[in-house]
Amino acid sequence: MKLVFFGAPGAGKGTIAKIVYDKNKIVQISTGDLFRNAIKNQTELGKKVSAILERGDLVPDELTIEIVKERIKEKDCNKGYILDGFPRTMIQAESWEKIDPIDRAVYFDISDEVVKRRLGGRRICPKCGAIFNIYTNKPKNEGICDNDGESLIIRKDDQEEAIENRLFIYHEQTKPLISYYKKLDKLVTIDSSVDADTSYQQIIKALKL
Ligand SMILES: [Zn+2]
Repeated sequence: MKLVFFGAPGAGKGTIAKIVYDKNKIVQISTGDLFRNAIKNQTELGKKVSAILERGDLVPDELTIEIVKERIKEKDCNKGYILDGFPRTMIQAESWEKIDPIDRAVYFDISDEVVKRRLGGRRICPKCGAIFNIYTNKPKNEGICDNDGESLIIRKDDQEEAIENRLFIYHEQTKPLISYYKKLDKLVTIDSSVDADTSYQQIIKALKL
């Protein structure tokens, strides 16, 4: 089954894609991971991408599409795939339908308020990588890691202004995909303000996995 997961930042797409992989063996393709790996391994593509990102620009659509196209040729995609983080614009979505039409697009529905709590409440330990949340998963002592006593930090991406910006881009660029996939009769909407297990249950029910 060929799937697209899309929704606001912090909606839990990556987490659920990992669960679907563990239980249903449909591989997750995250463009973020593909870029990071290419950069780490210093491939031709990685060099191109890192130059673009260093300038502070977005990776152009054609390059992103090219990368995903290469990735789905690999053997582990024989049962299909979950695209996570792509397509994130109408141009990407329309191009992909011509390349390899998907079966279903799962829209992770969540309000901006919940996103702000989820991401804005996140505190990370720079030493061991543990993740806390000041609303839902508080450390025993405020601002201190339970594991090693290190002071917790807020990632750059999770600062209030960065979240506002990510949400703005999402509303502008990605939200139009809802009506696009609806028209194609491929849209599945799940409520992703709930915990990961409940979201997963909604997905298997809707997709009959
Ligand atoms: Zn720690």
